[in-house]
Amino acid sequence: TANEFTANPLPSQRTMSSSLDAYWMPFTANRQFKKAPRLLARAEGMHYWTDDGRQILDGVAGLWCVNAGHARPKIVQAIQAQAAQMDYAPPFQMAHPQAFELADRLAKLAPPGLNRVFFTNSGSESVETALKIAIAYQRARGEGTRTRLIGRERGYHGVNFGGISVGGIVANRKAFGTLLAGVDHIRHTHDPARNAFSVGQPEHGADLADDLERLVALHDASTIAAVIVEPVAGSTGVLIPPQGYLQRLRDICDRHGILLIFDEVITGFGRTGQPFAAQTFGVTPDLITTAKGITNGAVPMGAVLVKQAIHDTFMNGPEHLIELFHGYTYSAHPLACAAGLGTLDTYADEGLLTQAGELQGYFAEAVHSLRGCAHVIDIRNIGLVGGIELAPRPGEPGKRAFDVFLDCYERGVLIRTTGDTIALSPPLIIERGQIDQIVDTLRGAINRVA
Ligand code: PLP
Repeated sequence: TANEFTANPLPSQRTMSSSLDAYWMPFTANRQFKKAPRLLARAEGMHYWTDDGRQILDGVAGLWCVNAGHARPKIVQAIQAQAAQMDYAPPFQMAHPQAFELADRLAKLAPPGLNRVFFTNSGSESVETALKIAIAYQRARGEGTRTRLIGRERGYHGVNFGGISVGGIVANRKAFGTLLAGVDHIRHTHDPARNAFSVGQPEHGADLADDLERLVALHDASTIAAVIVEPVAGSTGVLIPPQGYLQRLRDICDRHGILLIFDEVITGFGRTGQPFAAQTFGVTPDLITTAKGITNGAVPMGAVLVKQAIHDTFMNGPEHLIELFHGYTYSAHPLACAAGLGTLDTYADEGLLTQAGELQGYFAEAVHSLRGCAHVIDIRNIGLVGGIELAPRPGEPGKRAFDVFLDCYERGVLIRTTGDTIALSPPLIIERGQIDQIVDTLRGAINRVA
């Protein structure tokens, strides 16, 4: 992608003159950040450039979304052309051709049977949509007592009320009251005592799926609509599903008429070596939530992929009536659909949706070479996802990893931290030498911070 762009000169000096006060930044320590802001001004291929012209290698695909690398021409051009042709079209009782085309192409990429597509604008909205479809489906098929939702400890499903209710991150929940009623959680699968430094899927832990049986025994299956899990949990420290775990969840759901939702907001679009992690792990859920890589991060968009049989259950009433009272002003936004089509073209042209499988051996070896560095207590990987967990500094959880993040950023590599785990999720166009650059920079940073 080196010579794709000649426009956009590098900014050579800071251009911002406005105050930093008004912008209340999300998931950010605002006061600390504003004392020493990190401002990005341009992006292309594998790199960002800061507003003062420094080049930063992107080790995290922006935020798990820029899977094809930055500013790819087909995506840029599709957005530009669509903006000029038709900026907006109402999605209720109206549509535009690109919405159907994108849905059709997503259905073809999805695991078998998940060929109905509901568009949203984010991962959080995809989660809310999937939870609502699950409950409404149970009612539509005459199982209206099934309203309970099951999530998982350490799960992250975005920030809306449904998502934080089924989610399992205390910091995201505790300030916001009683949340959704009728939610329960199974345990997470992270078990360093049995699985530390696993390469790929950990050996131990399929038995943790049996927590769902315990909840069925406790609540009765007739009260449970759905269970939602991330096949690979990213935001809570890169947790890889143990061998057999997802299949066991699938079997328990089938036994009890419970829908299985995979939240693939980060694993969708090639992150684990197949279009969806469901395909990588060979387990087909009933619904898949997506976002991020659907437009390569270029325009906000999400989608829920739904089994046709679920969709068809809604299609039994009179034809002139709305089947599902749900949707967003910006569902299937023309710019997002254009970006999505340009993105799928780019993925297809370059074979990117299977590229993580090609690189995962090299990536795994590189990431696991950090074993033995100061304070590294676990390393986990799958596809082009890596997690390097550091022992927390006493009394300062998250601080050691954040210092590593700052050190890497100063040296031109963007990583991400969640708690004391460093998460890597580079664009799928990454080259081997760039994997080395990320890992070498990390090695230096971990040692310096120690
Ligand atoms: N679900 C998962 C698994 C995620 O990782 C994320 C975001 O990282 C979300 C949902 C929320 O997506 P968004 O931030 O687009 O609302």
